[in-house]
Amino acid sequence: MSAHGAGHVASVRAPVSVRAILLAVALAVLAGWLGGPDAQLIGLRLHDVYAFVGELFLNALKMLIVPLVMAAVISGVGSMGDGPALGRIGGRTLLYYLGTSLLAIFTGLLFVNLIQPGAMAELPTLAHGAAESAAVAAATEGRGLGDLAGIFKSLFPPNIIAAGAQGQMLGLITFSLLFGVFMTRIEKGPGDVLRAFWQGVFEVMMRITDLVLRFAPIGVFALVAKVVSESGLDAFRPLAGFMLTVLLALAFHLLVTLPLILRFIAGVNPVRHYRAMLPALLTAFSTSSSSATVPVTMECIEKGAGVSNRTASFVLPLGATVNMDGTALYEGVVVLFIAQLYGVDLSLMQQLTVLLLALMTSVGVAGIPAASLVAITLILTSLGLPLEAMGLILAVDRVLDMSRTAVNVFSDSVGAVVIARSEGEPNVLGEPARVPS
Ligand code: ASP
Repeated sequence: MSAHGAGHVASVRAPVSVRAILLAVALAVLAGWLGGPDAQLIGLRLHDVYAFVGELFLNALKMLIVPLVMAAVISGVGSMGDGPALGRIGGRTLLYYLGTSLLAIFTGLLFVNLIQPGAMAELPTLAHGAAESAAVAAATEGRGLGDLAGIFKSLFPPNIIAAGAQGQMLGLITFSLLFGVFMTRIEKGPGDVLRAFWQGVFEVMMRITDLVLRFAPIGVFALVAKVVSESGLDAFRPLAGFMLTVLLALAFHLLVTLPLILRFIAGVNPVRHYRAMLPALLTAFSTSSSSATVPVTMECIEKGAGVSNRTASFVLPLGATVNMDGTALYEGVVVLFIAQLYGVDLSLMQQLTVLLLALMTSVGVAGIPAASLVAITLILTSLGLPLEAMGLILAVDRVLDMSRTAVNVFSDSVGAVVIARSEGEPNVLGEPARVPS
């Protein structure tokens, strides 16, 4: 790394106190674990207090999503115009999403084949029947994506206001992309007004994000303490092997594959990137929602990593729904785990089907908690595997959801750095500009 690069990094500031958030997570685990589900303080059930405060924080983040994503995409595309830049960045972004998702699924399949967690867990712990099926139905209800055709349909929502209201990001993004492109093709007078308007909306939304982020330590504390106090640590024992497999595979992707891409493709120092993105990683972890994390991811990537607004506003909102490495990896592991549990040997062809379905469905999965359960039921059904086993997964899904969401968000941020570097942007993570490739 050049001395020049090192000098720049001093100017990169973390948008929120990472230490405060880390401390909040540690305290939350302690408080949730010691207190358990029924702890009370002056007559109030602590769990309910955590739930209330956590929801306030989550709602504050969600409140920002629709205007922030629309303004980011419209002004980002508007500043690129509809010329070669948009096509180039668009093509590279999709290539990155596809490449890293495939690597993630391979990693998951490799770990689950090596560790064989399905052989460790016992089938008798599975209570088959109506209760499980009902639990699965309840967990997956309203999470969109009925089938693969549903993914394509959600690209073009019949009503853009309804899409926004229901948090259907793909439709919102298609509309915003089109709006941004055609905004550059109309007459200069009204075109300039629109550009200034959306740029203004974007800047205001980022300021509000700043404000919400000041409360991140409290919000993160509440969300994590709630999960820990609810589930305790006992629920995890029967599925320890499965959880370990997922966590190891996610860790490999987060700590080996993606940093290698940062180092050798983007040519930046991965440690700096982790440092810049830590608030976003912790927000993703505590909220289990890539979409709710978008405001924080934007903030960290622009202020912390130094990626331009033009690149960030194209790569991140799209990535939050389309690029889900952690989710894709998880889907593959769950399906193979369930097959192992039932002693079903999946052939190479069937594993390839899992890979393809995991890839496609991870694109359509919404960036909200537990969204991948829908995709998993879809893959299980298409392979003819029993859905009841999902009941077992539900017990431990929350913690794994937190972890895979952090990986989803981190991969989006790596994508933004890769694209920014390939566009020759200066001062990304303190590095001097490269000649655009
Ligand atoms: N919670 C994940 C996300 O928002 C999606 C999932 O895998 O359930 O990124």
